[in-house]
Amino acid sequence: MENNNLLMIPGPTPVPEKVLLAQTKHPIGHRSPEFSEIIGEINDNLKWLHQTQNDVLTLTASGTGAMEAGIINFLSPSDRVIVGCNGKFAERWAELCEAFGLQTERVNAEWGEALDPETIREKLEADTNKEIKAVIVTHSETSTGVLNDLETINRHVKNHGEALIMVDAVTSLGSVNLPIDQWGLDVVASGSQKGYMIPPGLGFVTISEKAWGRYETAKLPKFYFDLGEYRKSAGKNSTPYTPPINLMFGLQTALQMMREEGLDNIFARHERNTQATREAMKALGLPLLAPDNAASRAVTAVAPTTVDAEKVRSVMKKQFDISLAGGQNQLKGKIFRIGHLGFVAERDVLTVVSSLEVTLRELGHENMTPGAGVAAANRVLAES
Ligand SMILES: *Cc1c(COP(=O)(O)O)cnc(C)c1O
Repeated sequence: MENNNLLMIPGPTPVPEKVLLAQTKHPIGHRSPEFSEIIGEINDNLKWLHQTQNDVLTLTASGTGAMEAGIINFLSPSDRVIVGCNGKFAERWAELCEAFGLQTERVNAEWGEALDPETIREKLEADTNKEIKAVIVTHSETSTGVLNDLETINRHVKNHGEALIMVDAVTSLGSVNLPIDQWGLDVVASGSQKGYMIPPGLGFVTISEKAWGRYETAKLPKFYFDLGEYRKSAGKNSTPYTPPINLMFGLQTALQMMREEGLDNIFARHERNTQATREAMKALGLPLLAPDNAASRAVTAVAPTTVDAEKVRSVMKKQFDISLAGGQNQLKGKIFRIGHLGFVAERDVLTVVSSLEVTLRELGHENMTPGAGVAAANRVLAES
C-alpha cells in the first residue's frame, strides 16, 4: 500500500496535514508588510515555546547550523570550552569546537549513560582563573535516547560565573520542560524537523543578555551566521537574508497548533508516549539503552539481545511500513530507536508496539507473551 508510512524516527518527524497544506501557497515577497506580520507572529510564538523574553533567531540551516552559530558568535580562538560527551551529537560539538580552534576538553560518559554533573562541577571549581568560557551540553542525546541533567549542570556553570552554558536542545525543545529564562541558559539551539512538526530546513537559536555581552568581544570569524544581523532584523520583524518563505508558512501554522495544545499538554503527551514505549519494551523482554531516570522524551533506544536490531527495522519497514531509526557509530547494528517526538499520538505508539510484537515473533524472539507489550503500554496510557 502506498503512502502509508509511519515515520517513527527522531527527525525528520511527522508533519500534520494542516502544516503541509499551509506550505503549498505561492511564495510572497520577504520584504512585504504581509510577510513582516507573519514573522512578528512567529517570533512571539517562538518566545512562548522557548519560555523566554529574549529573541529566538531563525536561521535557514539545519540544527547543526544553529548550534554552530550559537558557538562561534560568543567565543574567540583558543578559548577553553568543556563539552559533555556521551553520544554522537555531543561528539559533533566537540569536533566543531576543534574545527574553530577552541581549546576543547571533553567530559565523557558511556554512550547510553547520562553525563555526571559532578565531573563537570569539579572541572569548573578547579578553574579558579576563570579560563573556561563555555560549557556545551546536548540536553537530549538523540543517538542514545539519554536525557542529561541540564538543570544540575547549569547550576554548576552558574556558580562558576564566567562560563556560558550552551545547549543543544534539538530533541528536547518541545518534548520536555526547558524553562530557558528561569534557568538562565545562555545559548539554546534547535531545528525544525524535530519538535516543531515541520520539515527540515530551519534552525533556531536563542541568546541570553549575558551571551550578547560576549558577542561584543568575540573574535571567531563569521558572516552568514553573524547573529548580530539576525537580532537587528528580528527587531524589525524581518530577516537579514531570504528565508524559506513556504517553510515559514508551515512554521506559522505549526506554532498555532502548539499554542492551542498548550505547553503542559505537549510535555504530558511526550511523557505518556515515552513511558508507554519503555514499559512495552520491558514487557517484551527488550533491554533499553538509557536508564529510567535519564530517558529522553523524544526517542527510545532499544538494544535487543535475542534478535538482530537491523532485522527488526527491516521487517517493520517491509511488513508494516513503519520507519524506525538504527544505531549510529559504535551503536550501529546494536540498537534500534523509536522516535516519539513532535506530531506523534498515542495511537502511533500502540501501532508500533503491536507491529513490533509480530515482528519479534517472526524473528524468533522467545519468552514473550503475545499482547504483553500492548497491555503494558495500555496500562501507562490508562493511568496518565
Ligand atoms: C537532529 C539533531 C541535531 C541536528 O542535526 P541536523 O541534521 O543538523 O539538523 C543536533 N543535535 C541533536 C541532539 C539532534 O537530534
